[in-house]
Amino acid sequence: MTTRASASAVEDAVARAAESARSALSLTAGGDFRTRWRALVAQGLLDEAPRPSADGSGGLGPVTAALATIEGIGLAGAPAGLCYALASQRFGIQFPLRSMLSEQVRRSLGDVASGDVLLCHALTEEGGGSDPLSMSTSAERQEDGGYLLTGMKSFVTAAPIADIGLVFARTSADRTPFALSAFLVDLRVPEVKRSEPFRKTALTEVPMGSLTFGGVRLTPDRLVGHEGSGLALLTATTAWERAMLLSYALGPMRRVLDRTVDWCRSREHFGRRMGSSHLVAARVADMALALHRSRELVYGMAARLDAGERPRQLAADAALTKISVAEDYVMFTKQAAMLGGVRSFVEDSGLCADLISPMAASTYAGPNDLLRVTVARELGLPVEN
Ligand SMILES: Cc1cc2nc3c(=O)[nH]c(=O)nc-3n(C[C@H](O)[C@H](O)[C@H](O)COP(=O)(O)OP(=O)(O)OC[C@H]3O[C@@H](n4cnc5c(N)ncnc54)[C@H](O)[C@@H]3O)c2cc1C
Repeated sequence: MTTRASASAVEDAVARAAESARSALSLTAGGDFRTRWRALVAQGLLDEAPRPSADGSGGLGPVTAALATIEGIGLAGAPAGLCYALASQRFGIQFPLRSMLSEQVRRSLGDVASGDVLLCHALTEEGGGSDPLSMSTSAERQEDGGYLLTGMKSFVTAAPIADIGLVFARTSADRTPFALSAFLVDLRVPEVKRSEPFRKTALTEVPMGSLTFGGVRLTPDRLVGHEGSGLALLTATTAWERAMLLSYALGPMRRVLDRTVDWCRSREHFGRRMGSSHLVAARVADMALALHRSRELVYGMAARLDAGERPRQLAADAALTKISVAEDYVMFTKQAAMLGGVRSFVEDSGLCADLISPMAASTYAGPNDLLRVTVARELGLPVEN
């Protein structure tokens, strides 16, 4: 049984986060990724436990509180890439790992909560990302119980600047569910080479790149869980991502809906206001529907995680949530782009629409097509990847 936080408690948390994010964003306008990251993180977004609110009206579970904070940061105008990076670290790495790391390992990572230490999730390789068992990066067991990491990860968000990577590597040559293991790797050592940031077109505010491991020595405590549990951990991190990563879009969607409504109310042509057209009104209503569905789904996932449901239990619903929000985000942005006319394609118009970033959501955290295959298989169809 899941208990949803009251809508007003969530709205209060979103409003509080938006208020502090606005000042952090204006103080760091024009700053680089790390500067803006630190300023936003200072609000406690990456804390393991949510800070109580100043008026004592907290009461949200940790996942819902983190979600409301990310929504507030996006609502305040944080660029989508920054919101994505925050959601990715919090929900794709920190939450899934929180019960798996000893206090000693957690401390050895450095000050993640202050934003000084940036994490990344290194799974994908040049050969592809959807089929983890095809990876070639390997961690070879050494006599002292440690590992030697060799290989290359690519298309990794924050790779050019991250400090610690959650890196998946094969510890067995076989193609079995126990062939992979996960490691926390310090990326600041000379045996790790980083690429220049890729010139990507989606979520441009956070860099992406590759990491080459040229024989990185890992002490035994860098292994997360036990040898061979990498695929199980990956199942957990991807369930978290599918459930929660698209939370990054909620704030930007709210902002775009507000400005589109303002535009349709004020713009005059054909001797009347644009918003008095039924076609225009229907497009705005479709945007509101997409946002409503997306918020309901993501906050529903957060409530279930706060209620203690295990990621594995909600994996099927997490996949449906990810497909639904990703596709609603594309449809939503398309409607906004139609209504903004030429201004949708002019950077400083105030109505510029980023159509590429929403589309990218169909690829990461499991391509939507492959998730559809999983959904159909769960329903009983004899379909394989
Ligand atoms: C913005 C962004 C951020 C990312 N950040 C990270 C990160 O931080 N860390 C990381 O490790 N990776 C990251 N990735 C990479 C991402 O995880 C991979 O792109 C993803 O796993 C898909 O792998 P692929 O791109 O190789 O697609 P492929 O596996 O090549 O699939 C491409 C398409 O082929 C079709 N397809 C392929 N096989 C099938 C099949 N069997 N059935 C049906 N359709 C099929 C589908 O349409 C699918 O979308 C990121 C990607 C993006 C876009």
